[in-house]
Amino acid sequence: MNPEQLEDRRLYARRYYWKNREKIRQWGRDWQERNREKTRESTRRNRRENPEKVKKCCRDHLMRKYYIRREWCIDHMGGQCEWCGSRARTKLVFSFVGPGERSKSTIATLSEQDLVEELKRYLLLCKACDRIHQFKKLEERFDGVRCPSAKLTADQVAEIKRSLVERERCEKIAERYGVLVQTINGIRYLSYYTHIVSELNPFICSTEYPLESRFVEESGEIIERAQKMLALKEEVSSPKMAHILGVGVDTVKRLSDKGRIPHNRPTPDSHRRFNIVDVLASFGLEV
Ligand SMILES: [Zn+2]
Repeated sequence: MNPEQLEDRRLYARRYYWKNREKIRQWGRDWQERNREKTRESTRRNRRENPEKVKKCCRDHLMRKYYIRREWCIDHMGGQCEWCGSRARTKLVFSFVGPGERSKSTIATLSEQDLVEELKRYLLLCKACDRIHQFKKLEERFDGVRCPSAKLTADQVAEIKRSLVERERCEKIAERYGVLVQTINGIRYLSYYTHIVSELNPFICSTEYPLESRFVEESGEIIERAQKMLALKEEVSSPKMAHILGVGVDTVKRLSDKGRIPHNRPTPDSHRRFNIVDVLASFGLEV
């Protein structure tokens, strides 16, 4: 038989196989069924004689199955990140949401029916969104009073929120509960203890802190600090102005950006300077 004939035969055999694939596979299965003991024995022998090879083969088979199944799962779940719509397939992951526990089996080892059920408890996300999702889950677990190192109880937080609604100063509240001002601010701006007394939250959030009335309330202290500073100089930098008003530097900068308090710059590139008398006058305070 010359090489061309050989090639022809091969082609014919291949075509025949694909045409009758199901039939041939069924024959194979039937043969195995009839010779069960024989196949079992040969499998056992193979395992015994080539343990490494068998192991590798199993691993490869699972890997192939995993990749094929993974593609199928991605299509099944819409083929894109559910949060941002990214379609980069290699960057998509299955992010567990629950309820219940995650299945111990993997995509490759679950039965098809179980896989469909299992996927219902997952979100298809890109890696970036998944990181946010994981972080959110962590936050939820350690949020506020559920955190083992929490300083405040749920009742205390509720009281604090009430005090905030009544416009009590953060510093005073912090002192009363023996926590940092940042903690109270965190509660106010909904970074901490977010799950407590949610009906109060929008109100706190939408209310501008009454800065002006606070300046009037503390006018005595402000004027005292201003006088001390005035003994040294008339114009001061932002940090010094912040110290006089008893607020943060950012607040001073924000107020001057808004034009609420006057400032000037000796040259366009230099830092802001504040005239103490002018700034206090803009709040109706006299030095
Ligand atoms: Zn995304």
